[in-house]
Amino acid sequence: MSCGPAVTCPLPAWPEAQQRGTSPPSVRAAPPPEEPRPSTLCGPAERLKFVFGSSAVAALDLVDQHSVTRIVSPSGRAVYQVLGSSGKLYTCYASCHFCTCPAFAFSVLRKNNSLMCKHILAMYLSQATGACQELSVSDQQLASILLAEEEEEGLGTMC
Ligand SMILES: [Zn+2]
Repeated sequence: MSCGPAVTCPLPAWPEAQQRGTSPPSVRAAPPPEEPRPSTLCGPAERLKFVFGSSAVAALDLVDQHSVTRIVSPSGRAVYQVLGSSGKLYTCYASCHFCTCPAFAFSVLRKNNSLMCKHILAMYLSQATGACQELSVSDQQLASILLAEEEEEGLGTMC
């Protein structure tokens, strides 16, 4: 099969462009096609979003707003309180990976389709970035925080 005579291509000259030292557009390599793959995610925020979905953005917002407080008592016990976007305060336990919010109970414990809620993610992020506020309370105050949470969640059932 003949390919025909070699084409002596009368390429349009780029005299001005060559003089300026820029190359004509035909020389440029085609840009690689965009693929939504983790390898193309370059920033830490994009990576967080890839793993944790929309809760990553919400968690970063909580960290930005300094909504995470680490509450420590003289006994060495510590819990985290995270002020949710609705203005409600949730208690997070780093030691056992637990949050008292409804999203944790539903998505993590019941449906098992999330690794953690935005409050726990915000707790870890604020630990990592040093954006965590610290509050020292007495053992009695810590106990009352935990008991108040228990009453609020309806776990302290009356027999
Ligand atoms: Zn939560």
